This record gives sequence, C-alpha cells and structure tokens, in this order.
Amino acid sequence: MVKRLFILILFYASAIPFHVYAIDAVDVLIKNGTIVTMNNNGDIIQNGSIAILNDKIVYVGQKQEKDFTAKTIIDAQNGLIIPGLVNGHTHIPMSLFRGVADDMELMDWLTNYIWPAEKLNVNPNFVYWGTKLGCLELIESGTTTFVDMYFFEDVIAQATEECGLRAILAQTLIDFPVPDNNQADADQRWENGISLTESFIQKWKDHPLITPAVGPHAPYTVSPDHLRVTSGLSKKHNVPFVIHVSETAHEAEIINDRYGSDAHSSIQYLHDLGVLSPLVIAAHAVWPTKNDVQLLSSSGTGVAHCPQSNLKLGSGVSPVPSMLDMEVPICLGTDGAASNNDLNLWEEINLAAILHKGVNHNPKELDAQKAFSMATILGAKAIHMDKSIGSLEPGKKADIVIVDRSSTHHIPYNNNNIYSELVYATKGSDVSTVIVNGDILLQNRTHNKLKKKEIVQKAKLLREMIDQSLKENR
Ligand SMILES: [Zn+2]
Repeated sequence: MVKRLFILILFYASAIPFHVYAIDAVDVLIKNGTIVTMNNNGDIIQNGSIAILNDKIVYVGQKQEKDFTAKTIIDAQNGLIIPGLVNGHTHIPMSLFRGVADDMELMDWLTNYIWPAEKLNVNPNFVYWGTKLGCLELIESGTTTFVDMYFFEDVIAQATEECGLRAILAQTLIDFPVPDNNQADADQRWENGISLTESFIQKWKDHPLITPAVGPHAPYTVSPDHLRVTSGLSKKHNVPFVIHVSETAHEAEIINDRYGSDAHSSIQYLHDLGVLSPLVIAAHAVWPTKNDVQLLSSSGTGVAHCPQSNLKLGSGVSPVPSMLDMEVPICLGTDGAASNNDLNLWEEINLAAILHKGVNHNPKELDAQKAFSMATILGAKAIHMDKSIGSLEPGKKADIVIVDRSSTHHIPYNNNNIYSELVYATKGSDVSTVIVNGDILLQNRTHNKLKKKEIVQKAKLLREMIDQSLKENR
C-alpha cells in the first residue's frame, strides 16, 4: 500500500506541467506580511506572500514558504507590503541645492538664486553625485519610480541605472543658455538642444529601468514654435512629454507679454498649440479653470500634484478634488529638494490627504485610500505606466516596499484601517526593504547596491564648493 502511494506521488509529481514548476521555483519570496495590493478590488491580504521571478511578480496570495523553492526569502515581520511609490516630479540633482534659498516667491527664487547657482555649478560631475544623493533618499523612503527633468539627463540616466531605480527622465529644453547647452546663438542653441534630446532618447529607449522623455521647461520659457517641435519629438518617438504647467496665477500674463498671444490660461494655450496628449505629464496645475480641467481630462494628460513645493513657494493650492472628479489621473511629486526640501513622498501623501479637507472645509475630501492611490496605482496611471507598475499583481514589475510597523506611531493600529495607518501615521523612515525590477536595493534599512558613505562624502564636498561660488558672486 505504501509502495503504491509512493509510485502514485512520483507519477503525479512528474506530471506537473512545467509552468507550474516555473512559478514555484522563484528568485525571491516575501513572506509574513500584510499585502496592500492596490489592485482594482482594493484587496488586502493578511499573512500573505509575494513571489518574484526575474523582474516580475509571479504570485500574490496566502501560499506559504513550503509551497516555493526560493533563492532568497525575505521575512516581512508582520510589516505592510506595498507597491513601490511613484514620485511624479523631481529635479533629482538639485538635492545638492537643498536649503540654498528658502522663504521667497517662485520668480525671485528662480531668477535671483536657483538659475545663478545652476550657472555656476551644474556640470556632469554635479549632476552625477546629485542624482546619487537623490536616489539614496528616494530608496530610503520607499520611492521606486520617479519622473525627472533637468540638465545632462544622460548623466542622470547613468547614475539612476547604477542606483537601480526606475525613472522617466526628461531632457530639459529651454529658450536661454543653460549648463548643458550654452551657445550664444539662439537658433544654433535650439538645434543643438533638439539633437541632444533626440540622441538621448535613442540611447535609452529600450532600457528596462529608464524611459527617456522630452522636457520643455514651461510654457513661459519655451516659445510656441519650440513647444510644437518638442511635442512632435515626443509623439515621433512615443516618449513622455514632461512640463511645468500653471504653477502660478500669473502664468498666462507672462506668456501673453512674452509671445504676444491672448491665452486665458497656460493649459488652454497648450491645448490650442496641440500639445496636450496622453504622453503629457504636467507638473503642478495649481490654477486650472473649469474648462482647463475638462481639457486635461479629455486629452489624457497626467498631472503631478506637488503640494509642499506649491505651498512653500506661495504658488497656491491645486484644485485636486475637482480634477479627480473629472477623472484626471493625478500623481504626487516632491519637486526638487531645492524647493521642498526633501524627496520623502510620505509627506506629500499626508499633506494631499489633509490639505484639501482644510481648503474645502470638508473632511470627506480625498480620503486616505484615494491619497495612497495617488502615490501608487493612480500615480502610475498619471505617468502612463499603470500597465507595468503601481499595484502588486502577478505580471507586474517587481517594485515592492516593506513598511515596518514596530515604531510607536504605528501602535495600536490594526489591519482594519490600513490606509489610515499608511497616510496619517507612516513616516519615510519606516521603510525597511525596497525592491525594484526584482532587485533588492534596500534590506532591513541596509543598502545592497549604493555606497552611502561615499555619496554623503561627495555631496558634502560639492556643497562646500557651491556655497563658496555663491559667496564669491554675490
Ligand atoms: Zn519643478
């Protein structure tokens, strides 16, 4: 009888189809956590496991360790297992400008401090180490994908690849001399900027982590003709178009003065130029009219809401609830560390959830689940990547974060109000483990890939040089 059973088991074992075997033998198994899937049903799985094979999630559910053969097992220790966060707007190397100028309005801050500081300091070495410093901060606070626009974006791509993060990286185009494109002749400079952007796109287009993009700075710094050209470039290569839009109340006036147009708003202006499309990621959108919201919605434009940066620069409060009502996909962004002054997305999640309640005198606005979705699945939709990231589901890229729940501010939360815990109590420093594309970047708060000491040292050295250059030129 025993012998017969053994033969029977052998028979069935050998009859297991290959694909089932392939799923059970995995690279990484995360066990013993509460999984906040952010899938369409909003499933939360208690005592769950996630299996990763290569760069993808292959299993999410309640199977246990014995059901898998895993090369690496990560014990979540009753933590929350969440999708990696999406930061929809950064200028990552500006981490090195943290705290250079604070407490002033946008145009004063830009023209009298940031642009001069950039002119004196921004070069490939600055950008490389600034990106590494920024990535260090993003990883430690659980961001796995960011959308960037800056200069020398090719160097940013190299540094980001070395850090192992996922990113949409937009080469900035602007109508005045900048550190990576400073020829005196305006036409030659523009031609050079376009060819630089095009070769950047071609170089990185099929990279597993980096999505190259076109980044005209803003409708008030890039002429209408140039906006049309950059939009054409984005459509030709099917890559994102990243731009600052409607950041301050006076943007339309500046555009009209500068370009002789008669725009009612910068969003209407971009629509009239034929620029708005499902490739666009528009940062800020603080002052859209009702009609603008309609235009954003019907064009498939994604918006990056940056509440801290907008408040700190006194730009205003974006009408996020009315944009959400019109199904405009919205992600959250920190903006650069020069205006924020950190890249910790948890503060944006918390602020977005409470800010609109206060402004609209309505505690029901933007509930915790909605706010958290703006940092995960809805955020992924706003940057047009929701097919591959933003939720924990088989087939999606393995971008996963574990939140440790042992700090006092998590106690006595329980599993009945997880979104409340994530949005109103969790801090960036609670992030213990970060996985991107199946690669474990941070485990129990220890970096596997980055040499933190070296990055911190380089950053401090560069900052001394920045401060000195500003002192000499004041
Ligand atoms: Zn910005």
